[in-house]
Amino acid sequence: MASIGFIGIGNMGAGMARNLAKAGHAVTVFDLDMEKAKTIEGVSVAASTADAVSGAQMVITMLPAGKAVAAVYRGEVFPNAADGALFIDCSTIDVETARVLAEEAAAKGHAMLDAPVSGGVAGAEAGTLAFMVGGSAEGFARAAPLLDVMGAKAVHCGDAGAGQGVKICNNMMLAIQMISVAEGFVLAEKLGLDPQKLFDVSSAASAQCWSLTTYCPMPEVGPQTSADNGYKPGFAAALMHKDLGLAMEAAQASGAGTAFGQAAFDAYAAMVERGEADMDFSGIIKAVRAAKG
Ligand code: NAD
Repeated sequence: MASIGFIGIGNMGAGMARNLAKAGHAVTVFDLDMEKAKTIEGVSVAASTADAVSGAQMVITMLPAGKAVAAVYRGEVFPNAADGALFIDCSTIDVETARVLAEEAAAKGHAMLDAPVSGGVAGAEAGTLAFMVGGSAEGFARAAPLLDVMGAKAVHCGDAGAGQGVKICNNMMLAIQMISVAEGFVLAEKLGLDPQKLFDVSSAASAQCWSLTTYCPMPEVGPQTSADNGYKPGFAAALMHKDLGLAMEAAQASGAGTAFGQAAFDAYAAMVERGEADMDFSGIIKAVRAAKG
């Protein structure tokens, strides 16, 4: 069993830390919002990141964005981590920051993996996340027992930054699919169709996708989702906007044509501008419904 310092126990981190503790690991958590820590059974609570990581064999971070990740590693993890501790950053951040931090960690004698996830809050709670991992094969092998507890699948995608690269491609596809499902249900609504019938057909037909069958934006259709809970996140629009921004930066840098990715970025930017940053990303259906054809 490993001793783990876990930093960032928000929507995603809380379930991941809980599952590690349930599996018998010694987990010490820290979050800027300490109220959250009190709701996680089986973990110890530290007063700072420095306290959480000192003495830990593994450090896991699940933070909002690259700036926070860089600040936490440079400010408190690098100076306080035990010799040889493995760092696993599960946040979704830009490829460049992931690569630079891995180099800085290596210079201090630590392996560092970028290991962003897919699967949402439900996956974090159920321990069924999918991990996309960048970094050394040796680091991946060391992390595997923990990734097995927190997820159902872990793919070693390549060197440092490769996990983040795969993640932003995945989320760009997800955003486009979510908007396509929202448009399908709104068109069905305007045509006076029964949304349940559309779900019954499409969930078993060629439009089948995760945004439809697992995370349907239409309330009272399919499994219980954020749509049945007033679009409470879940996966906040602000985070989808962030991920699409990372994808658009990467598309520009690499010369990839991503017209629908750009349209999705614009739609989520508008959602954030309207003050809906904290609404679940499936709440985009409201804007689709309000749009005039
Ligand atoms: P969140 O905002 O709920 O959680 C982030 C936590 O980090 C918060 O509790 C915050 O207080 C804490 N934090 C911020 N700065 C900190 C610091 N300097 N020190 C300690 N704690 C700090 O976000 P989330 O939904 O849990 O997402 C976390 C990451 O996972 C993001 O990068 C997101 O893009 C990614 N992600 C989220 C989902 C999802 O469905 N929510 C799915 C896949 C990936």
